[in-house]
Amino acid sequence: MKEEKLLIDGKRLDGRSPEQLREIQMKLSAVNRANGSAEVKFGKTTAVASVHGPRALYPRFLQESDTGILRVRYNMAPFSVVDRKSPGPDRRSTEISKVTRLALEPTIFLEDFPKVTIDGFVEIIEADGSTRVTGINALSLSLASAGVPMKDLVASCSVGKIDGTLIVDLNGKEDNNSEADMAVAMLPNKGLISLLQMDGALTKEEILKLLQLAKESCMQIYEMQKKILKDSYKGE
Ligand code: ADP
Repeated sequence: MKEEKLLIDGKRLDGRSPEQLREIQMKLSAVNRANGSAEVKFGKTTAVASVHGPRALYPRFLQESDTGILRVRYNMAPFSVVDRKSPGPDRRSTEISKVTRLALEPTIFLEDFPKVTIDGFVEIIEADGSTRVTGINALSLSLASAGVPMKDLVASCSVGKIDGTLIVDLNGKEDNNSEADMAVAMLPNKGLISLLQMDGALTKEEILKLLQLAKESCMQIYEMQKKILKDSYKGE
C-alpha cells in the first residue's frame, strides 16, 4: 500500500508550515451553570470546559482535612468523531482525565481549600487531533474565570514528527499517521512542565528541539489566554 504523504513542498496538507499552529479561538462563559467555563478551538478540535466549585465535598469521607482536591472528567462526545464513538467512559478517557488533572493540579492553591473539591469537566464536541491539550487549555481558562486562586495559567500543545519533519499542533490525520507525537503542558511563568507524553521514536536532539517548539507554541497560547481573561474584566 502506497503511503500518503503528509508534507508536500514543505507544507502540511491543511496548508500550514511545520511550526504553525492551527487557527485558535477562545471564548469564556461557554456554559451557564458553572462557576467558570470556556470553549477552545484548535482548528476543528473543539473543547468545552467547565469548573464547579470550590465547594464542600460530600460524602464527607472523601474530604482531605488539610487540602482541597481537584476532580476532572474528560469526555469525548459520541458525535465528535466521524465514526460515532460509543458513549461513556473508556480506558482512554479515564487516562486523559487523570493526566488533565495532573497537568492542572500544580497551579492551584489547593492547600488553601481543606475539605473542598473543585470539579472540572472537559467535553470534546469535535475531535480532530490534540484533544487532550485543547481540553487542558479550556480547563485552565475555566479555573481562572471561576476565580480559583492559581500560581500560573497552564498552556498546552502537541508537537510531533511527520515525514521526517518536526511539527507543532497535530491535526487528526497527522496524529494518526505521525512517526512520533508529544503532548506538553506548561506553567509558562513558572517555567514548569506539568504534562509530557510521547509516542514513537525520536533522537535526543529531536526531543530537545520539540520541547523548544512546544515552549514557543505554549507561549503564544499563554498570551491568548491572558488577553481573553484581561478583556473579560474590561467587559469587552
Ligand atoms: P489526543 O486527542 O489528545 O491527541 P489521542 O492521541 O488518543 O489523543 O487521539 C488522537 C485523535 O484520534 C483524536 O484527537 C481524535 O481525532 C481521534 N480519536 C481518538 N479516539 C477516537 C475514537 N474513539 N474514535 C474516533 N477517533 C478517535
